[in-house]
Amino acid sequence: MKVLFAASEMAPFVKTGGLGDVIGSLPVALREAGIDARVVIPHYSAIREVDYRLTYAVPRRSGDGAVTVHQTDYRGVPVYFLRSWPYFQDDGKIYTVWDWDTPRFIYFSQMVMAFIWELQRGALDDGAGWWPDLVHCHDWHTGLIPFLLHEARFGDGWNRIASLMTIHNMRFQGPYASSWLYAEGIRNRDDSILDQQDWRDNLLAIGMGYANKVNTVSPYHAAELHYPRFGEGLQDLIWRRHADFSGILNGIDAHIYNPAADPHLESVYDAETFRKKRPPNKAWLQSQLDLPVDPNVPLIALIGRITDQKGIDFAVPAIRAILEAEDVQFVGLGTGEPDLQAAFGQIGLDYSWKARTYLMFNEPFAKQIYAGADLLLVPSRYEPCGLTQMIAQRYGCLPLVRETGGLVDTVENYDNTPTAAQGTGFRFLFEEPAALASTIRWALDTFHNRPLAWATMQERGMRKDWSWAPGVAEYRALYRAAIDARRWWEAPGMAPLP
Ligand code: ADP
Repeated sequence: MKVLFAASEMAPFVKTGGLGDVIGSLPVALREAGIDARVVIPHYSAIREVDYRLTYAVPRRSGDGAVTVHQTDYRGVPVYFLRSWPYFQDDGKIYTVWDWDTPRFIYFSQMVMAFIWELQRGALDDGAGWWPDLVHCHDWHTGLIPFLLHEARFGDGWNRIASLMTIHNMRFQGPYASSWLYAEGIRNRDDSILDQQDWRDNLLAIGMGYANKVNTVSPYHAAELHYPRFGEGLQDLIWRRHADFSGILNGIDAHIYNPAADPHLESVYDAETFRKKRPPNKAWLQSQLDLPVDPNVPLIALIGRITDQKGIDFAVPAIRAILEAEDVQFVGLGTGEPDLQAAFGQIGLDYSWKARTYLMFNEPFAKQIYAGADLLLVPSRYEPCGLTQMIAQRYGCLPLVRETGGLVDTVENYDNTPTAAQGTGFRFLFEEPAALASTIRWALDTFHNRPLAWATMQERGMRKDWSWAPGVAEYRALYRAAIDARRWWEAPGMAPLP
């Protein structure tokens, strides 16, 4: 099976969050399972050290565009980088503003289509040629591709290419794209499912309407997306695609996030040795943060985008209340919305003897926090899957999460027994400071008075399979279903996939 991933970011080349992690790890895992996965992303100016391969033309109304292709190999996965004037030149940013990003990613989708043509005619592999069986599209940036594939369906070869649309974040949709679509000469979207003008002009909705299958990144969030609270205006479209819609839980890269072999840690450990070998990481972290080195003071952490989605607005007063009243330490790492960043950063200034806040993006530091902190707060208002709570569990740091999306699928609530017969962390429901603060108090009480329960939960979390293995099996089945759907419809009588 041959699968081309099209996305806007991929770790380690470019990453702003979980999408980058997924594109940097799922194709590697698929390849290990025998699926020929390749990736195409924009060639942002920050990406260097990749080899020039070729230049091809994309016909546009405004004149042909010249697209350059660079290529590299990432752990066995061929990765292609596309760039064409005036986009992805020297604008260093991954995401900019609506009226630049919308035309930018529309054009990227057109570049991908023309790139598939170059791939199949063997321009990159000395004539061998490669037709993908399926294009796996991620988020609104590549939402136009399922439509363009549909448009191309009368061409031999093109009629065999299925599409899968994966929703990593429903809030970002690429809305009001019509003027740019019109300017590119892209025909009206006529799928009867897209029966509102708003949907026909919305890049994510277009992808959801035309893809052979649609999914999101956790089963719980797949259910949530049917309702207005989470559907962001596209819940009716989810209902209409209900039969083709599912949730597949993300995995994490078991090699990159591995406390037994992480070069950034002071002391490496695993589920057997963490009781003795994890504590040096906490001591080291406390000393690096210039906080008192004391194993008995709980160290609470928060890592992630400092946004309303992540619940930072109600977390800040809760964290302040805990710092005011309890003997704890706090470390925060993240970047995001300016006003929330200011409020978050102020915690470190106001409680300088026990709290630190860093407004930056630093992956090695994040791993040192996962390995050294006792508790990780994830108070998200919504969370399609969430990776931080999985990484934390793998590193023996207990997550404290709001009950939403993938957080429900991945964090088992502590049953409050002395030996923790169940649980890998703590959960709360209400999006308000008091709910978060009282759940932190519950966790602190457990830390101090039930050390056995705490260690049992750490071990249970560390032993869970957070890898892509289950996800790969599910994606394989979904790819197959999408391909079958496409071929049955577009090319009846065609031999089924071997
Ligand atoms: P989202 O994709 O919504 O931002 P996820 O939990 O799915 O959230 O993924 C976040 C990823 O980004 C994790 O790998 C996390 O460790 C990393 N991350 C987030 N903020 C930072 C930061 N400031 N520094 C380093 N890593 C970060």
